[in-house]
Amino acid sequence: MKNALVTGGSGGIGAAICRRLAADGCHVYIHAHRGHQAAQALADEICAGGGSAQVLAFDVTDSAVVADVLTPLVEHQPIQILVNNAGIHDDAVFPGMRAEQWHRVMDVSVNGFFNVTQPLMMPMIRSRWGRIINVSSIAALTGNAGQVNYSAAKGALNSATKSLAREVASRGITVNAVAPGIIDTSMSESAFSAEDIARMVPMKRAGSPTEVADLIGFLASAQAAYITGQIISINGGMI
Ligand code: NDP
Repeated sequence: MKNALVTGGSGGIGAAICRRLAADGCHVYIHAHRGHQAAQALADEICAGGGSAQVLAFDVTDSAVVADVLTPLVEHQPIQILVNNAGIHDDAVFPGMRAEQWHRVMDVSVNGFFNVTQPLMMPMIRSRWGRIINVSSIAALTGNAGQVNYSAAKGALNSATKSLAREVASRGITVNAVAPGIIDTSMSESAFSAEDIARMVPMKRAGSPTEVADLIGFLASAQAAYITGQIISINGGMI
């Protein structure tokens, strides 16, 4: 049984990814920050259905705490599937964007990627098999007014994906990013109205978290061994 860690497993897309990886036979570490209760309920649901899951809680921006939790965890058995899904947006038109909004969004996506991924790397490399999937955004591909911070953070994640993929390709580890368009979660609810969605998405609907999770489940599988360094967008035809 492979160990998988999904950051932001307490959120809309993250929960769907956890369910999918558990259904595929992984032991799933469901990571939460403030949503510990939601993550515990999800772990209980997965275990009640015969799967295997447990909750890990930390702020991905706190490098010392993240290392304290993850380093002992991978000492004896590597986490071979990592989904860096935790992310926030804090939108403002650029002239009015506060420095704090810029730094926080970058901190969660970019420093969070570093803090969580690095402690898992050496054990994953030693095991000669791994899947790292970073949840990016269409905003990094098209740009989006009001999201200079968010698109910059996700753009950094895309570039990190490509470079890390080259570093570890010969070790049987793939590194890819999935860039969703508008997906039906509380995050998108606050950003897009039904009219926005009808105007922006050729399929005239938001995607579901399960549709994103199915793509990530495939990228995490043995069948996806030759896909690496890619930014794969799932967006109902937006681009
Ligand atoms: P949610 O708001 O539902 O989930 C976000 C998750 O990130 C939560 O589990 C939250 O944990 C976690 N998180 C936030 N800040 C921190 C932090 N400092 N430390 C640790 N965890 C943190 O959003 P979605 O499910 O919609 O988004 C998931 C990912 O998908 C994000 O990276 C987002 O940018 C990306 N995305 C979403 C799109 C959409 O339309 N929904 C479109 C494109 C990309 P907790 O709640 O426990 O605090």
